[in-house]
Amino acid sequence: MKLSTAGNLEPFGPTYENAQKQFLKAADIMELDPNIGNLLLWPQRVLEVHFPVVMDDGRVEIFKGYRVHHNTAKGPAKGGIRYHPDTNLDEVASLAFWMTWKCAILNLPYGGGKGGVRVDVTKLSEKELERLSRRFFSEIQMMVGPQKDIPAPDVNTNAKIMAWYMDTYSMNVGYTALGVVTGKPVDLGGSEGRTEATGRGVSIITNEVCKVIDKDIKKTRIAIQGFGNVGSYTAKILNEDYGAKIVAIADISGGIYNEDGIDIKDLIAYRDSNKGLIKGYPKAKSIPAEEVLELDVDILIPAALENAITEKNAKNIKAKVIVEAANGPTTPEAEDILLNKGVLIVPDILANVGGVTVSYFEWVQDLQVFFWDIDEIRSRLTKMMVKAFNEVYKTKEKYNTDMRTAAYILSISRVASAVKQRGYYPM
Ligand code: GLU
Repeated sequence: MKLSTAGNLEPFGPTYENAQKQFLKAADIMELDPNIGNLLLWPQRVLEVHFPVVMDDGRVEIFKGYRVHHNTAKGPAKGGIRYHPDTNLDEVASLAFWMTWKCAILNLPYGGGKGGVRVDVTKLSEKELERLSRRFFSEIQMMVGPQKDIPAPDVNTNAKIMAWYMDTYSMNVGYTALGVVTGKPVDLGGSEGRTEATGRGVSIITNEVCKVIDKDIKKTRIAIQGFGNVGSYTAKILNEDYGAKIVAIADISGGIYNEDGIDIKDLIAYRDSNKGLIKGYPKAKSIPAEEVLELDVDILIPAALENAITEKNAKNIKAKVIVEAANGPTTPEAEDILLNKGVLIVPDILANVGGVTVSYFEWVQDLQVFFWDIDEIRSRLTKMMVKAFNEVYKTKEKYNTDMRTAAYILSISRVASAVKQRGYYPM
């Protein structure tokens, strides 16, 4: 399928172009109707905002943020909001694009959305963070709503910030609207199991991969890049619930290695008392962060940001399996190198859907005003993720292709069917 240049459509930047390449590979194999393909290659709506925040010293600083809806054929837009100094439209549009496919792979009644603010949170006081969050949410209020677009946490955002978002929206509309964001505190319309959900989902998928490659998960050695919410829960659950050995971990402060396995609970306690960083952890050898990706391990789990695995380091990667906990960690060039080496890559749009799936459970609970217990959350999550894994694996076999392309084929076919049945407005 040819990329549509009609109407001077231009990719937002290199990350979005990479995301489109992944889509086009699947669209070709499945012989997707080009009318639908050309529609799905682009986001439906993009909002860019500049807004003031009164800093503690009285200065007014201007911040830049975004909210993007990629496609809403299957339901309201869904996706997180991240705070990062490098966040830009290229990144947010790519993340919104991936959300569409993530929701479709789990058959969630959502389209894809994403937001972000360019900000270094380490430089903000608690009050500045609150003022920034509340003003940003007011600025994007025209895009969001329980039936319209439901944001959630992402990099550097959390339950506390979701509570501020929910309160801000509720104050503006004049009534309490629990269903406007997910990932809220449990005693404020949040769901049991949401905080750990992405990590639990990655662990469920890693366990399923071990089954298909006939490897005992208890005998696997795993390296993880990233030790934020996703990386740390993935490490903890894989280790405690599945018995896997986590031998190496990296974060922005460096890498650590312990051949006998890292005590994850102990490391989390260390991190929490060390400004959120793993640097200096005494019970492991410290190594350069980049080395963690290239270690001789069974499974590599990138759980940080986009474009971590590139053509530069792909050739040095020794793991036979990569499970993508981050969004967009592997560039298409790196993926070609890895696939040629026979590496099995479980793509982000399947591996990290645990977060948005429990977000969906939270939204359903909020709308019904009826809440479930942790066992129900975990068993529903496991059932849905195992089913999705098997469907993707079958599609991979059927088309004799890689797992990412198989995941795209499956999710594109579902969204395409929604587009087709709804028709084009106006006719
Ligand atoms: N930010 C998460 C993701 O990338 C979760 C999105 C959500 O829960 O809506 O999947």
